[in-house]
Amino acid sequence: MRVLDEVASGRFHQVESIARNVLTAYGYAEFRTPILEHTELFVRSVGQSTDIVGKEMYTFEDRGGRSLTLRPEGTAPVVRAVIERGIRNTPMPLKLFYIGPYFRYERPQKGRYRQFHQIGAELLGDARPEADVEVIQMLVELLGACGFSGLTVALQTLGDDESRDRFRATLVEYLTPQHERLSPESQERLESNPLRILDSKVRGDREILADAPRIDGSLTEEARKHFERVQQLLDLVGVSYRLDSSLVRGLDYYTGTVFEISSDELGAQDALVGGGRYDNLVAELGGTSTPAIGFAIGLDRVVEAMPETQAQDRPRAVVLPLHHEALATALRTAAVLRDAGISTDVGDADRGIGKALQVADRRGIRWAVLIGEDELAAEEWSLKDLISGDQQRVGTVQELASTIQQETD
Ligand code: AMP
Repeated sequence: MRVLDEVASGRFHQVESIARNVLTAYGYAEFRTPILEHTELFVRSVGQSTDIVGKEMYTFEDRGGRSLTLRPEGTAPVVRAVIERGIRNTPMPLKLFYIGPYFRYERPQKGRYRQFHQIGAELLGDARPEADVEVIQMLVELLGACGFSGLTVALQTLGDDESRDRFRATLVEYLTPQHERLSPESQERLESNPLRILDSKVRGDREILADAPRIDGSLTEEARKHFERVQQLLDLVGVSYRLDSSLVRGLDYYTGTVFEISSDELGAQDALVGGGRYDNLVAELGGTSTPAIGFAIGLDRVVEAMPETQAQDRPRAVVLPLHHEALATALRTAAVLRDAGISTDVGDADRGIGKALQVADRRGIRWAVLIGEDELAAEEWSLKDLISGDQQRVGTVQELASTIQQETD
């Protein structure tokens, strides 16, 4: 039986370390931003009429009367920080990633928490479809390295400004005659931000939306070409995807390509990753106009859904001095095992060896190193595998470490 917290944290570290490796290999540098931001930042970027800003933010006044918010997402803070550091003088493209806690006042359920964790990345200064594809390819590789198979990439484009203007007009034209049947929230959004109606989860709204016009019909030539190129390149690099015209990301800043990646392992349709282009955000937040694309991986969900075989916990051992004179040898042995990457305790065999082994086994420890009078006299160690029950004598402490490592792999 394993200690749950320990396993959970171990898996967090494992996924974080896989992510750091993959992201670094693609040229991303780690970046940290504060957990608190001015509320205004999210209102301006994520959007006043989104669920996140409208219902889900932890917002409060500080002692100076400023309105602050626990960050609900990572893109806006990164963009703000980059602008403050002088984006005009930053060589592009700029590739940044971050790992940390985020906060949304959502209804807690499995895979959905009020404090959750994301691994996110932003690629600024590259407008090419190649950038979209590199990001998606990297994510598939990253999730693959975490042991996920059966990944589905759902893909959609929100088009450029002109495409969205056209689409907004077409949508309003379609929805206006049905105004009375829409939910009060969607009625309000029809005035303020019609595209957000596509986000609605209200059954009646969904029925109306089933026959609504699609963005495809409103795309400009340029937006259509970009999206087609993304698909061609995904085919080229062998990433399979599904076009999903119902994919709406719940944030206003997205433009162009948007995507979500989910896994068969998760069962539910909840996505592991969401992301997309946001070519206008840097300018909207006061920086030099810079195209950009980013994503966020839901770390909690990845950890929960990750296939069991991927959990590579360190081997665990307990060294048991069976005689008071064996203590010094036990301490030295433990130090060597720890150096070799084996998680090692020095146990207590005062209540008998049987009891000590039972305790170790219940704690999920596989290896027991026994040092009694015989072992001291022979300058040897007894190594017991608590899973198979096999016991062997080992002549050096290095051999002890390598046997534990080899057998555990
Ligand atoms: P978003 O920032 O909404 O695009 O979400 C990106 C990813 O973060 C999602 O696909 C989820 O995996 C994860 N995520 C978002 N909200 C939560 C939450 N409340 N609890 C756990 N994971 C979340």
